Amino acid sequence: MTKRQRRASCLVIVIILLLLPACRVSTAEGLATTAGKLSVHFIDVGQGASQLIIGPTGKTMLIDGGNNSEEAKIVAYLQRQQVSKVDILIATHPDADHAGGLDAVINHFDIGKIYMPKVQSNTKTFEDVLKAIKAKSLKVSTAKAGLTLEWEHDVEVLMLAPVGVYGETNEMSAVVKLSYGENSFLLTGDAEGESESDIMKSGFSLKADVLLVGHHGSHSSTSTSWLKNVQPQYAVIQSGPNNYGHPASEVLGRLKKQGSDVLRTDEVGNIIFISDGETLKVNHTDSLKDAEKTASTSNKEIKQNVYESCAAVRDAGKSPIRRGDPGFNAKLDRDGDGVACE
Ligand SMILES: [Zn+2]
Repeated sequence: MTKRQRRASCLVIVIILLLLPACRVSTAEGLATTAGKLSVHFIDVGQGASQLIIGPTGKTMLIDGGNNSEEAKIVAYLQRQQVSKVDILIATHPDADHAGGLDAVINHFDIGKIYMPKVQSNTKTFEDVLKAIKAKSLKVSTAKAGLTLEWEHDVEVLMLAPVGVYGETNEMSAVVKLSYGENSFLLTGDAEGESESDIMKSGFSLKADVLLVGHHGSHSSTSTSWLKNVQPQYAVIQSGPNNYGHPASEVLGRLKKQGSDVLRTDEVGNIIFISDGETLKVNHTDSLKDAEKTASTSNKEIKQNVYESCAAVRDAGKSPIRRGDPGFNAKLDRDGDGVACE
């Protein structure tokens, strides 16, 4: 290899290295998912739940998929995040507001492993999910406490529930704890008091930076002792317009007492956490909308900050004023030649 060739190949390597972190950077949400980071997206699916998790090397996991009516939104959201394969798909339980959109996900994307708790449901929407699984000849593994899921080398994925067998479908919810370096997430499906109590007895460390508040903030979940164990810095509530009183005021009270920052999809839209294993950043759709609002306000301010009359231009000693000059007002340029108040 000549000196020149060596230099050229070095240049190519440098360019590739510079481009690498740019992969999967910008999305329609304007949010970054970069290599080496774990991102957890609480997707706004109205009254329902869905979390997309993208690992440091780009592996993906989807927990729940909202209602059937939200399936196009879920598919579009995953596509915007450049997801082509869902490496792990978890249906926490068969209720429609969690499993409803999963048939569309199964139909649209390559699917790795599927986990579901052993619980019967004969609703039409859940049957659609089972049909989609069968049509692709996929297998379902049983979700239960104590499983460690193989996913990303640097991220521990532990299933904490269901610990036992419960009569209530909600109590059968798969509960997952993700840990990446110093950051952790506890994702609870619709688990309620009985399951929470059994998880606490099972001796796992429950401490987590981010807690998905159980069952959309229902009063039957998120007990005081549960919160004392988890000590979440952030408490996410996935809810939308509903007749169940979700989230319950007593749960909001408990979260306030615990000192957690509450983030609700019904208030701020999609909520996205990004962790580098040490620090956690949070963003949500509304903060981006706010940024747009600020941008348009400041545009207006710039527009208003123009001379309203030629007298004002002359008083300021700026006449004639040209297009591009600060304060130029096209209204004052009657002949449209780009020069006003000649
Ligand atoms: Zn639910």
